[in-house]
Amino acid sequence: MEFSTFGQKFSRHAGITQLMDDLNQGLTAPNTIMLGGGNPAAIPEVLAYLDQQAQQLLKTGELLKAIANYDGPQGKDTFIRALAGLLSRELGWPVGPEHIALTNGSQTAFFYLFNLLAGEFADGRKKKVLFPLAPEYIGYGDSALDENHFVACKPDIRKLDDGLFKYYVDFEQLEVGDDIGLICVSRPTNPTGNVLTDEEIVHLDQIARDKGIPLLIDNAYGTPFPNIIFTDARPFWNDNTILCMSLSKLGLPGVRCGIVVANPTIIQAITNISGIVNLAPGSMGPALTLPMMESGDVIELSNQVIRPFYQAKAQQAVAWLQEAIPLPQFHIHKPEGALFLWLWFEDLPIHCQELYQRLKQQGLLVVPGHYFFPGIEDEDWAHSKQCIRLNYAQPEADVQAGIAILAREILALYGQS
Ligand code: PLP
Repeated sequence: MEFSTFGQKFSRHAGITQLMDDLNQGLTAPNTIMLGGGNPAAIPEVLAYLDQQAQQLLKTGELLKAIANYDGPQGKDTFIRALAGLLSRELGWPVGPEHIALTNGSQTAFFYLFNLLAGEFADGRKKKVLFPLAPEYIGYGDSALDENHFVACKPDIRKLDDGLFKYYVDFEQLEVGDDIGLICVSRPTNPTGNVLTDEEIVHLDQIARDKGIPLLIDNAYGTPFPNIIFTDARPFWNDNTILCMSLSKLGLPGVRCGIVVANPTIIQAITNISGIVNLAPGSMGPALTLPMMESGDVIELSNQVIRPFYQAKAQQAVAWLQEAIPLPQFHIHKPEGALFLWLWFEDLPIHCQELYQRLKQQGLLVVPGHYFFPGIEDEDWAHSKQCIRLNYAQPEADVQAGIAILAREILALYGQS
């Protein structure tokens, strides 16, 4: 069978496909320790709350009503109005329903936005998406219709006390030419747990405005929900910002609900693309979470339950890792948010893909770090081959057992066993 150019590009085994395969394998093979995926933790209070919401919707017939009807291509009206109200009330943003569109997961939104604002233009010009700080989210890397769609800037790497380090945007090296159509960052960042500082965001916003291009902030882990942020980061939005949010990390990855908050021109474009590609986004997630958006319970749940849960888990995992791997070459990115720890093994004697394979053979799944550098063309950059990502938010016994396997392998590699 012959596949088109599109078919060849989108049917290959991308990094994100490997990740989702492993996630599935981890869920089906009973003895695998799954510290690889981006699945949110099963937090009992959150599950109990959602269960109670679902029961209520079943009782009132609202659930059946939601799934027995198509929503419009912009997404469920009642949910969009409630969310606009919540964002205006909580954050003071001038956001109305015309600023919000829903998609089937934010992954779908990235695909629309990356191809809406970059790629080939009618007059023959080509534009790219710029990631000002690599490493960046693995899921962006293959979401473009054409090749060479992304460009990224290496970070300023600063070692901190206590075996930690932090990435900063290297504004001196950052070049934003006329061939850039969109600047994109995740905040907090998957894979590193970095949270761009307020100054960095303001600076990026300024650059984007000067260039007349939007700044996309992927807020999948951010404020006001699920608010998995452990630093004092100011929420940021204006009419040049495209903020992507999601119900996934709140505990609902299965409903596939992404949210785009942007100026009405972008929202109308997303709505029209949604109509062509999907007819309408799914209605389950918006129906299930409508009451918590209206009541503001989603903020309480995020601040009182979700954030403290993840923060405690992150601190615990850092302590276990540092105890198990007491090497000067071992650095952990300062955990400032999201579900992951980003581990850097300086001068690692093997490629992180090989490390991933060795760990997988011993029943531990992590994600090798080299996938997280979309847009970086420097094949010889050692740092990009020395890191792995670990999901710290899985059951304690799994995290401890996983760290034991990792420590054994790493200590042997550095000749310390
Ligand atoms: N953005 C980031 C930074 C993520 O880590 C993820 C999922 O892991 C997503 C977006 C995808 O979210 P969704 O489930 O809404 O497609």
